[in-house]
Amino acid sequence: MSLVVMKFGGTSVEDPAAIGRTAAIVAGRVALGKRPVVVVSAMSKVTDQLLRAAAVAAQGDRTGALAISSRLRTRHRDTACALVKDSADSIALIDFIDQKFDSLDEVLRGLAAILELTPRISDLIVSFGERVSSRIVAAAFRERSIDSTHVDARDILITDSHFQKAVPQDALIEKRAAEKLRPLILQGKVPVMGGFIASNEAGITTTLGRGGSDFTGALIGGALQAEAIEIWTDVDGIMTTDPRVCPDALRVKVISFEEAAELAYFGAKVLHPATILPAVKKNIPVLVLNSRNPACEGTRITSLAPHCRSPFKSIAVKKKLSIIDVVASRMLMTHGYMKEIFTIFDKHQCAVDMVSTSEVSVSLTVDSNDNLPAIAADLGKLADVKYEGKKALVCLVGEDIRGKSGMAAQVFTAVRHINVRMISQGASEINMSFMIDEEDADEAVRALHAAFFKDPDPEIFDVEARRC
Ligand code: ASP
Ligand code: MG
Repeated sequence: MSLVVMKFGGTSVEDPAAIGRTAAIVAGRVALGKRPVVVVSAMSKVTDQLLRAAAVAAQGDRTGALAISSRLRTRHRDTACALVKDSADSIALIDFIDQKFDSLDEVLRGLAAILELTPRISDLIVSFGERVSSRIVAAAFRERSIDSTHVDARDILITDSHFQKAVPQDALIEKRAAEKLRPLILQGKVPVMGGFIASNEAGITTTLGRGGSDFTGALIGGALQAEAIEIWTDVDGIMTTDPRVCPDALRVKVISFEEAAELAYFGAKVLHPATILPAVKKNIPVLVLNSRNPACEGTRITSLAPHCRSPFKSIAVKKKLSIIDVVASRMLMTHGYMKEIFTIFDKHQCAVDMVSTSEVSVSLTVDSNDNLPAIAADLGKLADVKYEGKKALVCLVGEDIRGKSGMAAQVFTAVRHINVRMISQGASEINMSFMIDEEDADEAVRALHAAFFKDPDPEIFDVEARRC
């Protein structure tokens, strides 16, 4: 049985037209003999708006919170009406939406009285987004002759009680998926469920953290040993670099999980690889596909990278960084000094991106943030400190830099006209990064892209269409 989990993000279900496209994509898979399980996000921006309603209610603004909820109710009702014309189905669907928004309003009123927003209540409030979107999508599929069944994800995704970032309980999820999803699939039905939402063993609603729907897709795919997991978004997949900066950017056809993870860390927004780990661990390929351009084959993320002629797969840039130089001769021949430095970053809850040391100095890069003066003041008690903002980190990722000689020479020859402030290689065998002024970043990317992708390997990159 070729079971495939198809996850559609918020933009793929944002309005009747998008849901129509999604239905056509799923129908296409069914026609090919596949057995899909569909996971959907809330309609785009809905999660943010629900969180906003919660925050407004918690400040005591009952009217403001109910107004947000009322706009959301209208948006969902309108979408449902546009998609489902069958009268029996559409009455049941509108009823479902109204019931859910009635309960949401009740929670918001309570919150406006209590004035305390706990993580548990926050999870309950955001859960409405996926609960209604998945129900609408299931009905729209039925209307389009897909034999779909709505499944409440909270009956399957069992987590601990760490609200807002709950930890999935794999064994329980596997058991529930076998009991509740597999029989439906065997009957030829297409289960449709919300991503991101889950519940603890007591049945209290939890969530997997923002952007958690990809995670749901991977967990369900892993639990059911799916043949593939498809993540449908609104881009063609992972690109060699940002096409807005470099129009020559190419789609990467296949990339390893490790490479994708490095890119995500450096700000490539397509998906967060940690969320697909459950699939990678079970050797299930993950495909990133574009619901606006379903003919494009997207990017396949696999556990093992195929060999590639070019050393790098992709170039990512992280901007809005600051560099902090800590210089102290006192550091000479002492130990525990780094610990003191990192304790200060820890105290300010500031994550460090890159570190470089010499005998008497340490340079660190962090996201530019308002705490920098306070951090510098604390560091100043240990050593001389300087910090400077408007920096960018350029990161080249590729399996084939492992053990290759001459890579650094080629990289720095390509950017020889640019002043490099800090370099790092070795922390990960598949990434080479360096820091420059933010204003030089776009130029550096174009120069590197021209140097490393002039003869791209057609097995790995889509050389036929610059962007398909
Ligand atoms: N709707 C949730 C969010 O916006 C989960 C997701 O879309 O992945 O974070
Ligand atoms: Mg997402």
